[in-house]
Amino acid sequence: MTLIVLDPGHGGKDSGATGFGLVEKDLALVIASLVQRLFKEQYVVDVRMTRETDVFIPLSERANLANQWKADLFIAFHHNASGGEGFESYIYPSARGTKVEEIQNKLHDTMMSYMKNYGVKDRGKKQANFAVVRETRMPAILLENLFVDNAHDASLLKQQSFLQGLAQSVVNGVALAIQLIPRPSQQPIPVAPTAPAAPPTAPPSSPHWAKPAHDALRAAGFLLSDHTANLDQPASEGMVITLFNRLREALNIQQAQTTPAPPNNSPNEHWAALANDELMKARILQSDHRGHLDEPASEAMVIEVANRIWQAAKK
Ligand SMILES: [Zn+2]
Repeated sequence: MTLIVLDPGHGGKDSGATGFGLVEKDLALVIASLVQRLFKEQYVVDVRMTRETDVFIPLSERANLANQWKADLFIAFHHNASGGEGFESYIYPSARGTKVEEIQNKLHDTMMSYMKNYGVKDRGKKQANFAVVRETRMPAILLENLFVDNAHDASLLKQQSFLQGLAQSVVNGVALAIQLIPRPSQQPIPVAPTAPAAPPTAPPSSPHWAKPAHDALRAAGFLLSDHTANLDQPASEGMVITLFNRLREALNIQQAQTTPAPPNNSPNEHWAALANDELMKARILQSDHRGHLDEPASEAMVIEVANRIWQAAKK
């Protein structure tokens, strides 16, 4: 799964910038924590923080952590001070013209399109030789989220609703830039005529959208243990193979039809694209998965698909 490391700047003995009662180390931790929660709620992604408390961590250790964890993306959260106003983002100078600059462009633009509504000044997309963007071996971006010692910026940084929106704009920008997969409950679910009606998107407290499919498969003996707690987790190959083999037995399929590769398949197309299209045409897949055929599937997605096949076969 994609791993994003969030690095709240400063901490412990190192307060960072201060102004108008704001302290950079605290504010950076608040925002990074909001970002972590939103990522986990909305996307199939793993998120770790270099610090979750008020502790001092040297810069090179922050980069080392992300390198050891083999992160796919590193985002450092800072706030500016001393004579300015607005937002700026940084990448390492030699990352210009690479994928890292494309990520910076999308993240920066998404964040600014939110913050410009509050009159935040765009100071631009920049490069600098900061240790955390230099020593990390994955795309790394450092955000300078406004000036704590500027009256207009500080008044925004004191509003919880502004911080919440800022965190969401980080999540939206990253999702766009590296094409994160939304959690299934976040996707619109079209109704399939041969399958039970798709349940509506539900708040987290109510049952998972895939619970009816889970319960139907469990009642029919295809799932022997309770998976309701893992519905948003990636499905293991073992679970997928066991489930589909039980389906195969129930549908009495002794020998699968071998599907030859279609001759007009473009060589760039994913090997599973044809299967994806056929399942969509049959309304067994609810949305197009062509963009992430190499990503892990959630248990919920696998269970929903298996149940649609089973319900259709029972008719
Ligand atoms: Zn800082």
